[in-house]
Amino acid sequence: MAENVKFPEKVDTPSHLQLERPRCEGGHEMSAITANCPVCDAVVDLQADVGESEVVRCGDCGSDLEVRSLEPPVLAEAPAEEEDWGE
Ligand SMILES: [Zn+2]
Repeated sequence: MAENVKFPEKVDTPSHLQLERPRCEGGHEMSAITANCPVCDAVVDLQADVGESEVVRCGDCGSDLEVRSLEPPVLAEAPAEEEDWGE
């Protein structure tokens, strides 16, 4: 009775290797980019194709924020343009 039974040797795949990329939960196909507003610390959603030095607006405090870097996403207060409306 030479049953050629092969036990699968690699049953337990190292699941920790797959934890880095969580599957899309809740139907979010694209990975949302978020950063914290330096002014009010609110979470600001960034476009997936946002570029460095782009200016976005915080939806919470309305500040103009410049994208300083993307890896990781860092926002900084955009230099005020020539709009002295507060004089
Ligand atoms: Zn803000």
